[in-house]
Amino acid sequence: MWETLEKKMSVNMKTIELVTPSFNEEKCIEKFIEEVDRVFSLELPDYQYLVTYVDDGSSDKTLVEIKRMEEAYGSDKVHYISFSRNFGKESAIYAGLCNCVGDYVVLLDVDLQHPVTLIPEMLKAIEEEGYDCATARRTSRKGEGKIKSFFSRNFYHLFNHITGLKLMPGATDFRLMKREVAQAIAKFSERERFTKGIYSWIGFQNKWIPYANVERTEGESKWSMRGLARYSLNGFLAFATTPLRAIIYMGLLIVAATVVWIIKILVDYLAFGVATGNGVTTLTLITLFLGGMVLTVLGVIGEYMARIYMEVKNRPIYITRETNIGCQSEKQD
Ligand code: UDP
Ligand code: MG
Repeated sequence: MWETLEKKMSVNMKTIELVTPSFNEEKCIEKFIEEVDRVFSLELPDYQYLVTYVDDGSSDKTLVEIKRMEEAYGSDKVHYISFSRNFGKESAIYAGLCNCVGDYVVLLDVDLQHPVTLIPEMLKAIEEEGYDCATARRTSRKGEGKIKSFFSRNFYHLFNHITGLKLMPGATDFRLMKREVAQAIAKFSERERFTKGIYSWIGFQNKWIPYANVERTEGESKWSMRGLARYSLNGFLAFATTPLRAIIYMGLLIVAATVVWIIKILVDYLAFGVATGNGVTTLTLITLFLGGMVLTVLGVIGEYMARIYMEVKNRPIYITRETNIGCQSEKQD
């Protein structure tokens, strides 16, 4: 009787689904669900949780660990999607959001750097204060390298300035949202994905929840400085066409400067009879300058073209190798 009562209750309970991208995280898989279980039984007894692990083509025992958790907690509490290879965190997020079923969806890292204990506060923002989503924002960068934090801090100012979007400095992709918001994000089927930019683009009422940086306890960060630089450049190019416009202004400026220069030479010659400038030097400088300009412009256009090329190919954003989510299919529309 108790069992049926429990089942009945759980049918009426709202489900909070935690989508977590995991790449070579064998040491974190169990700790993560243990922490979720602890927080839910202590602070959110009226909700049930569902953990959706997205195994991003790990080469260690991540998937084995996930399956062990499925055995231990049951397949109604543990969903997983395992990729055929490493597609990157952004693709893993996309896969998780495309397949989410919870009433609320939380996106967070599996390494516990996004504290599960923030979820009750995030939930309050939605249920009591009428927001559609709540996003965590780091207020300190304790434990992070100086160079890394310098670049991330300045990245946001530059990004906002150029794209006209409003990325909050310290914003993370740790967010609790109503399912509609998650579905809106899943509609973005672009290949060069930048979730933080998409968060800002889709709108909705968002509440920022500040928290202090948490250091990783198990495993290690997958981001190198080079990886981060590539990630921020992708962010720019995915949301800003301003570089293309800047090139037009630059071209116009050079044309105008050249015209002024020609007029000056003509005036010098016609009015004062002086021939200014040594012909060879002038020609060499102009040729070098224009050559450089043309190469720069071609490079920028090439960057966008490469992206158009990848988009028109319409390749899948991820390929599933294994999953326990019923009749799931990769959504590519
Ligand atoms: N991650 C992923 N695919 C990747 C790299 C990372 O799914 O190719 C996941 C990783 O398992 C973790 C999250 O993305 O859950 C954040 O990665 P990480 O902790 O390495 O980044 P950091 O916290 O150092 O910025
Ligand atoms: Mg981390």
